[in-house]
Amino acid sequence: MSDPVVIIGTGLAGYNLAREFRKLDSETPLLLITADDGRSYSKPMLSTGFGKNKDADGLCMAEPGAMAEQLAAQVWTHTRVTGVDPGNRRLWIGEEAVAYRDLVLAWGAEVLSVPVEGDAADQLFTVNDLQGYGRFRQAVEGKRKVLILGAGLIGCEFANDLSLGGYEVDLVAPCEQLMPALLPAEAAAAVQGGLEALGVRMHLGPVLSRLQPAEGGGLAAHLSDGQTIACDAVISAVGLRPRTELAAAAGLAVNRGVVVDRLLRTSHAHIYALGDCAEVDGLNLLYVMPLMACARALAKTLAGTPSEVAYGAMPVTVKTPACPLVVSPPPRGREGQWTVEGSGADIRALCHDAAGALLGYALTGSAVQERLALNRQLPALLA
Ligand SMILES: Cc1cc2nc3c(=O)[nH]c(=O)nc-3n(C[C@H](O)[C@H](O)[C@H](O)COP(=O)(O)OP(=O)(O)OC[C@H]3O[C@@H](n4cnc5c(N)ncnc54)[C@H](O)[C@@H]3O)c2cc1C
Repeated sequence: MSDPVVIIGTGLAGYNLAREFRKLDSETPLLLITADDGRSYSKPMLSTGFGKNKDADGLCMAEPGAMAEQLAAQVWTHTRVTGVDPGNRRLWIGEEAVAYRDLVLAWGAEVLSVPVEGDAADQLFTVNDLQGYGRFRQAVEGKRKVLILGAGLIGCEFANDLSLGGYEVDLVAPCEQLMPALLPAEAAAAVQGGLEALGVRMHLGPVLSRLQPAEGGGLAAHLSDGQTIACDAVISAVGLRPRTELAAAAGLAVNRGVVVDRLLRTSHAHIYALGDCAEVDGLNLLYVMPLMACARALAKTLAGTPSEVAYGAMPVTVKTPACPLVVSPPPRGREGQWTVEGSGADIRALCHDAAGALLGYALTGSAVQERLALNRQLPALLA
């Protein structure tokens, strides 16, 4: 039998690529390898599970066995790839070598860790996959108070979701506003108002410096500004870093992510990358829409028709129903001027270039209704 196409990772990137590939090629042996349990799920749902009262099993869409059958593929679960040997077209799982015809890196990104001191410092949870969600859910079962670290998109979504799930939420982040990398201040204030109306307590400025078991149970979270917050669990959502170490060790070009061109080719023949780990023509976008576009293009390439990926506009709907938010940041390197209209929860912030062309927007509250009309005016991110 010929060597298989091997995909490392069974997240949305890995499984969607496999699905697209099988639409075009039902013959080539296909092997998916994953360090986790291989269950198929939609990661964006991880920040809606408490509000919908769904545990990890409730969010699982298919077991790995069912995925293997559906994809006419082998799926190796709980199997960590430890090395890649591009020269000999094989990868390593410990001492075991696996040969490939083509290799696809879909191994995602990992949560940044925060330096925290204290006897309970090991009780920081992260939720970046279904298993992590399951562990966190179990830990807060029957508890009341959760402290969230991070005011980015994911921290804000967890704040909204945990509040809907009946938890008291404190959010701590060393910044002046929510989602500073994504939003103008007025839009951030609108989201903050929505979350505060749900009961979320914001602590913007300090960091968590020490986490101790509290007398009488629970935890005492000591902040750098001297405050102490009582909580039952801490979830860290301070950012993600694309996994690049194994690629770098194999001699592949890496930058913020694994560097690939529009064909999703790394710097070595027969090795490709997509999803959170990939930097596609300079863009490392950690969202679903870009990886779906990559999966369709790469499936064609792997099936024999080299196809470049193109990105249109990629607005992101942030799951903060307390204050609906849709945002489309300006493309990299395009300078623009923001104008902000509206007040309170309803903000319409538009970014235009000097010639008056729309580059991006942030819409909150009732202004989100304008997104479809505005999307038609947005520039493509990778034309
Ligand atoms: C809570 C949350 C909410 C989100 N909401 C949205 C949203 O609303 N909209 C949106 O567009 N995006 C959202 N995102 C982002 C989006 O979900 C991700 O961009 C996407 O799921 C990434 O998929 P991936 O397959 O690249 O990575 P992952 O899902 O992280 O998959 C990586 C895979 O690689 C495996 N792996 C890693 N290392 C190894 C190794 N050495 N050997 C073997 N296997 C390995 C892992 O086990 C896993 O199977 C959200 C993300 C989070 C965390």
